[in-house]
Amino acid sequence: MKTIGMIGGMSWESTTSYYSALNHGIQAALGGFHSAKIAMVSVDFAEIETLQHQGQWGETAEILIKTAQSVEAAGADFFIICTNTMHKVADRVEAAVSIPLLHIADATAEKLVEDGITRVGLLGTRFTMEQDFYKSRLTNKYGIEVVIPDDQKMDTVHNIIYQELCRGEINTSSRKAYEAIIDSLVVQGAQAVILGCTEIALLIQQEHTKIPLYDTTAIHAAKAVKVALD
Ligand code: GLU
Repeated sequence: MKTIGMIGGMSWESTTSYYSALNHGIQAALGGFHSAKIAMVSVDFAEIETLQHQGQWGETAEILIKTAQSVEAAGADFFIICTNTMHKVADRVEAAVSIPLLHIADATAEKLVEDGITRVGLLGTRFTMEQDFYKSRLTNKYGIEVVIPDDQKMDTVHNIIYQELCRGEINTSSRKAYEAIIDSLVVQGAQAVILGCTEIALLIQQEHTKIPLYDTTAIHAAKAVKVALD
């Protein structure tokens, strides 16, 4: 079994989901007392969140590069960045280490392609929904069209992530707001919706909507388990 490198803490609420999913995945595959071999370094999200909102992405990359180097030094065979948003600097981080990065958008897109989804809604932070680094990967590399909520709805999605989910707060009113936004993406032609922020599945799960949901945390973790066992 390979050792999975994890860059965590963005936020730690979703890192716990990853940690659990990785161990459940290995346990399900190998049985007995088996668990995942993991080398994890977890950052202080307050530093990252401040830099993100100031647009200081270069500085966030510096932090993640140091973190990835520590993960590599700790014996990881490959690594995952446990957040969608910070894949904005994924190329720089990957270039600074000699172990491969398992990209969250690739893992998600492969699943969408497998399921024949060609037009998908994307929920995530405003950075992920609005900027190009994530959407263009889905479109250019996999031919998947991406639809996003309008400006006001984007604010709602973004604010619930930072003000509630990253702080471990789960509110029914926010779930209802997400359900309505998912419905609006379907009106825009989405065949399915990507939960493109690793905390969203803490709020909304498949049982809350008929629209197929693609939870990036679960998909990314499952892919990491597969690679670890290859
Ligand atoms: N975990 C979130 C994501 O997947 C948001 C937190 C962050 O900005 O990293 O995008």
